[in-house]
Amino acid sequence: GKKAPPNAILQANFKFEDMGIGGLDDEFSAIFRRAFASRIFPPALVDKLGIQHVKGILLYGPPGTGKTLMARQIGKMLNAREPKIINGPEILNKYVGASEENIRKLFADAEKEYKEKGDESGLHILIFDELDAICKQRGSTGGGTGVGDSVVNQLLSKMDGVDQLNNILLIGMTNRLDMIDEALLRPGRLEVHMEINLPDEHGRRQIISIQTNKMRTNGVMDDDVDLDELAAATKNFSGAEIAGLVKSATSFAFSRHVKVGTMAGISDDVENMRVNRDDFLQALDEVQPAFGVSEEELQ
Ligand code: ATP
Repeated sequence: GKKAPPNAILQANFKFEDMGIGGLDDEFSAIFRRAFASRIFPPALVDKLGIQHVKGILLYGPPGTGKTLMARQIGKMLNAREPKIINGPEILNKYVGASEENIRKLFADAEKEYKEKGDESGLHILIFDELDAICKQRGSTGGGTGVGDSVVNQLLSKMDGVDQLNNILLIGMTNRLDMIDEALLRPGRLEVHMEINLPDEHGRRQIISIQTNKMRTNGVMDDDVDLDELAAATKNFSGAEIAGLVKSATSFAFSRHVKVGTMAGISDDVENMRVNRDDFLQALDEVQPAFGVSEEELQ
């Protein structure tokens, strides 16, 4: 018969370094090999080897650690169409009553393409952000609207239907693994689980480098800023908090150069703005990590 191309095609010029994800090399590589690599080989070979595509993965861990970033970049890397990002609370709140219909619709494009093209269909990625939100009410007696229940049931039934649909991959994300309905995590559903934790010092160094890349390229960062020092000073910071720190430091630098009373309130000096070590020290006072207790603190 006709030779079907793989679901996904790896971007020829793909480089992990270009993805803008810091400190998650091992996680990314593990997820790629476990859950995505099978998609880029010819279906006939995959079938011959007895490999079945992983249908779903769950990324869990504290907020702001790059889960969404990773899910999006994986989609880009695989040349999949833009992933659909579904926000758990939104499904529940915005569309109460129509939630099941919304879940059904999410799968409709992929189902349609699979009907038309079979294994030649491209890959469809569905990302469920804050997945815990739709699980909260399942099994709860009284009080709850029961919407969560039926949404989870609908999701489960869709996932089980994904059997015949070789062109779908689900990525669930949560900060609360304990809240996720176990039924969602069984084989054939969100079957590969990966913890995405707060970055260690090396990871923070990479994230700081990524987040300051543009200002360094543009010569806006002073030489007295030491990225290693910042990496050491940001224990327990998430990637999002490091982004917040850089934003805060930049804002302190900017404010030093803005003079009230000049025309438009901005002095010419703004062009000479440099973010320096003091700006980062001020920023470190302003931006505090929300999570994590360091080991030193425990001792
Ligand atoms: P949440 O659980 O709150 O949805 P998340 O883990 O999905 O969080 P993201 O939305 O991916 O976190 O991160 C928010 C922002 O923080 C990113 O857009 C990026 O700017 C920055 N960031 C977070 N983690 C990293 C990282 N590992 N490398 C580089 N930037 C990061």
